[in-house]
Amino acid sequence: MLITNATLITWKPTGNEILEKHALLVDGDRITALGPAAELERQYPSAERLDARGQLVMPGNICAHTHFYGAFSRGMAIPGTPLKDFPDILERLWWKLDKALTLEDVRYSALVCLADAVKHGTTTLFDHHASPGAIEGSLGVIAEAVGQAGLRACLCYEVTDRDGEALSQAGIVENVRFTRALAEQPNPKLAATFGLHASLTLSDRTLAACRVVHDEGFHIHVAEHEADEYDSLQKSGRRVVDRLNEFGLLGPRTIAAHCVHIDAREMEWLKDTGTWVTHQPRSNMNNAVGAAPVEDMLRVGVRVALGNDGFSNAMWDEWKAAYFIHKLAHRDPRRANGAMVADIAVGNTAALAREFFPEASLGVLAPGAYADLIFVDYHATTPLTAGNLPWHIIFGFENSMVTTTICGGQVLMKDRRLLTLDEAEITAKSRELAQKVWARAYA
Ligand SMILES: [Zn+2]
Repeated sequence: MLITNATLITWKPTGNEILEKHALLVDGDRITALGPAAELERQYPSAERLDARGQLVMPGNICAHTHFYGAFSRGMAIPGTPLKDFPDILERLWWKLDKALTLEDVRYSALVCLADAVKHGTTTLFDHHASPGAIEGSLGVIAEAVGQAGLRACLCYEVTDRDGEALSQAGIVENVRFTRALAEQPNPKLAATFGLHASLTLSDRTLAACRVVHDEGFHIHVAEHEADEYDSLQKSGRRVVDRLNEFGLLGPRTIAAHCVHIDAREMEWLKDTGTWVTHQPRSNMNNAVGAAPVEDMLRVGVRVALGNDGFSNAMWDEWKAAYFIHKLAHRDPRRANGAMVADIAVGNTAALAREFFPEASLGVLAPGAYADLIFVDYHATTPLTAGNLPWHIIFGFENSMVTTTICGGQVLMKDRRLLTLDEAEITAKSRELAQKVWARAYA
């Protein structure tokens, strides 16, 4: 497939480029060539053409931390007094909702999020799943939904002790089962990591048990709220990151989501072990947990990537939140400049994805990279350069400007029309299932 008449945004790690009147050749699931449109059209006269009509063509967005299971929370009323802090939000919202999910709910919850991702140009997602009432087989169900959508995803189940030993064991088994299934039947669009909810719901015994069955690569919430640090100090006399390090859970394939309340030593542990931190500013604002010390972490050398924590898979909204939150938190407009946000969202998040999808590059337009592409119908009203692109994205891009989404060479949306998912069916079924989940959650 030859994508012609495009303005390519390459996001090359050595220096981003914006290439007008260019074309890009896709063979199978990879990009095989890019160059001036006239040249490639001459070189590949018989290739099937896809006319980008002058739109921007760029790598699909990547989300480093999300929760497909949260889709049915939209509009859900929580009985009683308003949720007062993060522990209250966990207990009275998330731990009610996730317990009420059946495997069918898990499937539709995932499909809702995947349709949203295709529409908003997010082609790779790291999901962190919980459904204590339907653990066995849940990752397989999500994997089927991902396959149906045609997107790329790394899955895991959140092991936790909050519902007793039998369910914490079932979570461990589900992670192991899914990891083994993928090892036996590899799929370039699927990857697995080992999920842990958070230090505050995990005993020493369970942490040790997880490390016994899984060598490296964990996905866990870390110090999202002070409660996680207080709990760890009380349980172990150590802070959260120190505690995880002691159990051998950190490393270059571990994802520590949030890290809002870590201290300087914890940052050093994260840096020394090469652990990834993901930043989810919309969620942090919504839960009123604070602004993560992202600039401090970057200065220390911690690798920070961008997630959305189950908010919409419209990742430019997350860019915008990342750009604004630190300015307000520090009352300093120099904080979190656009280039920094782009480094996190594009370069770092793609490097994290590469750890789990090592066959080819992601987040870049280059020969050999995965053909994960989006067309963006954006026509700059001011000069657009590789240097000022992050500010065009933050102040000019809308997620609805994504008109075409391609993942691994497969066209998932063309001219805003979904080709792999039946959105009307998913929407109707989701509404029906969500109603029942709400009723069960607060019965
Ligand atoms: Zn999360």
